Amino acid sequence: MTDTVLVLNSGSSSLKFQLVAPETGASVFDGIVERIGEETSIAKLRLGETAITREGRVADHEAALRLAFDLVAEAGENLEHLGVMAVGHRVVHGGPTLYRPTIIDDALVAELRDLAALAPLHNPPAVLGIDVARRVLPDLPHVAVFDTAFFHDLPAAAATYAIDRQVAEKWRIRRYGFHGTSHDFVSRQAAEFLGAPIESLNQIVLHLGNGASASAIAGGRPIDTSMGLTPMEGLVMGTRAGDIDAGIISYLWRTADMGVDEIETMLNRRSGMLGLSGDSDFRAVHQRIAAGDQDAQLAYEVYIHRLRKYVGAYLALLGHCDVITFTAGVGENDARVRRDALGGLSRLGIEIDQHLNESPARGARRISADKSPTTVLVIPTDEELAIARAAFGVV
Ligand code: ADP
Repeated sequence: MTDTVLVLNSGSSSLKFQLVAPETGASVFDGIVERIGEETSIAKLRLGETAITREGRVADHEAALRLAFDLVAEAGENLEHLGVMAVGHRVVHGGPTLYRPTIIDDALVAELRDLAALAPLHNPPAVLGIDVARRVLPDLPHVAVFDTAFFHDLPAAAATYAIDRQVAEKWRIRRYGFHGTSHDFVSRQAAEFLGAPIESLNQIVLHLGNGASASAIAGGRPIDTSMGLTPMEGLVMGTRAGDIDAGIISYLWRTADMGVDEIETMLNRRSGMLGLSGDSDFRAVHQRIAAGDQDAQLAYEVYIHRLRKYVGAYLALLGHCDVITFTAGVGENDARVRRDALGGLSRLGIEIDQHLNESPARGARRISADKSPTTVLVIPTDEELAIARAAFGVV
């Protein structure tokens, strides 16, 4: 049996799990338990040809993980026979000091708890998932893999907010960047696809999922990224606003009688495409646009406007760009977004081939014209595989 790593991605009310063979990249099974703690929890597992869906209340994350293993057994496999040699945990925020994939012990868990203030929406659920998994699987090494890791060494000019230095230092405020596992993985895949050493390439990676971020990578090292202290900065996202004037927050707090939690919830969960159009999913947004919905049209234009601004900024930072890669749900599937993000940029060396862009092909592929000086790629991200490999590397 080849070695495998169980990868866990724990959200406040969801638990994603996948068993990955890091050396071959094969996924043995994957699934998700959603709406944990509600009456209408739903659990899904895919294992080979078998797909199981189970509905009904799952009380907490521990019950969710145990249910996942029950479903694996129901699909005819036994975890003990699947060569699991580690558990890899996705942790969103590593703060200023944690960035290497790290074996989890009590001291690390304490450090992660300490980081909760920096990432109140993301780190507490990850710690919860870690606690539960260490209880349920006490004999395996558990490894934390940080979403911020890839951007740990961002140049100071990119990582520093132009705010009072003492305040920033005291409160650990800098631009950390997120989706690092994906930007790292996809930029390596792009180099592999082009058959070029990563050190020789200037790249822009556009990770456009429900959350969205862009990065500029010179010779394999990120020199800027769109997310900052938290995953709220940067591009317009499914439900997050991305860049806003910080003055909006104090204005609402002072004038609209909105509390800080309310403002944060609004910016995180009721903004972005959802806030502007009523839908966070691009498939629905396009349908609305086709039906003449002006709100959806404006939301789409705001999204594309921001995306093009970042592409332009990163072209200027890089000086020249060899490859631009689209990834994640929107980036991999939405040909219109790709076309509108990079259309009309031939004077900047970017020319999309309309036919290649619209082809329903899957997998890593080129979508730029042969003569385009900058190659444009679509590469599926695989954060679980990247986490599995990182965990495998340390155990
Ligand atoms: P995350 O991991 O951040 O939750 P994903 O990378 O899975 O998100 O992206 C999810 C988003 O991808 C959906 O909200 C939707 O907007 C978009 N998406 C998925 N499939 C398609 C498609 N076929 N066409 C356009 N957009 C799609």
